[in-house]
Amino acid sequence: MRTLCGVFVGNMKDPDETRRGRVDLVDIPLPEMGPQDVRIKVAYCAICGSDPHCVAGCFGQPQGSTDPIPLGHEVSGVIVELGPEANHKGLKVGDRVAGNFLRFCGGCYYCQNGQQQYCVNAQEYNRPGYASELVWHEDQVYKLPDEVSLKKGCLLEPMSIIVRMLDKANMKVGMRVLVSGGGPIGQMACQAFKMYGATKLTMSEPIADRRELAKTYGADFVIDPVNENFYERCMEITNGLGYDVVLDCSGSIHCVRDLPEVTANAGMLIYGAQYPNDYDMPFNISKYCYFKELTITGVFVAPYAYPRALQMLTRMNLDALTEKVFDLEDGVAAFDAQLTGKYPKILIKCNPDID
Ligand SMILES: [Zn+2]
Ligand SMILES: [Zn+2]
Repeated sequence: MRTLCGVFVGNMKDPDETRRGRVDLVDIPLPEMGPQDVRIKVAYCAICGSDPHCVAGCFGQPQGSTDPIPLGHEVSGVIVELGPEANHKGLKVGDRVAGNFLRFCGGCYYCQNGQQQYCVNAQEYNRPGYASELVWHEDQVYKLPDEVSLKKGCLLEPMSIIVRMLDKANMKVGMRVLVSGGGPIGQMACQAFKMYGATKLTMSEPIADRRELAKTYGADFVIDPVNENFYERCMEITNGLGYDVVLDCSGSIHCVRDLPEVTANAGMLIYGAQYPNDYDMPFNISKYCYFKELTITGVFVAPYAYPRALQMLTRMNLDALTEKVFDLEDGVAAFDAQLTGKYPKILIKCNPDID
């Protein structure tokens, strides 16, 4: 089977950037089908902002290892085979599906303590989505609603992250919300927080096209943090109060430090992106935690969010995020395009005959 894998070729501390990681197409065997497994012909797999981090070895791959790191977790496709016991969810051959790239075992301490994100067995079924076919456990597979296309369906996983952010934000209608970073997660968050009744909804993003896109997704205000005074603009928009909910979707060390400053007293600050492992942020704990009583949290993966994410997909406008498509054969070029930041989201079409 042909699949697109990140090949880790160097130590992350290597000063030569060209040796740190590269992406290539390699053939790997399809895993053997277990009785509760489902074989899926992959339609689309979207490039996630975390994939280049993965290629660069940020998820703790053994240093110096040259084993290919399987990539791709934002997947949609069509079921082509069901194991004899894959009958707990009513799935059928021909069903259009998407899924959770992690299978939570349900039996370990964390799964039973309502913290599936720390499931100690979650990696077993984490298989590459940039591939012609994929074998998942039926627990991981969700049938797409009829009105959700396969293109849109591959965004179920990022949608699950948005749902978890909404859960963690403890949103109430009328809360003032700032989204920092207009990549795909920021754009989807903007849209979803708007539906939830956010006011003064503000997108802070240096790329003009992305600020414009955020307006079409419901942003009431946009800020260019490079050419405008970020703090002053935030205070002007919120009448000096700051935002009740501040969501960082940028992962940029250039803006994370400013965010506690523009979060309202007793507000919620969610660092919802992935950050450089070796970045330590200075933080005045007296000012932000004692006097301001901020709640500060993050989002890793999204347990218990998939069924609701699936329903939310029917309401989301994701046209601009599903426009740019590369064929699997051009996967390496697709990764190059991802790194230019030119497209809000890139999809890889993994089979020519399904749409
Ligand atoms: Zn992702
Ligand atoms: Zn578990």
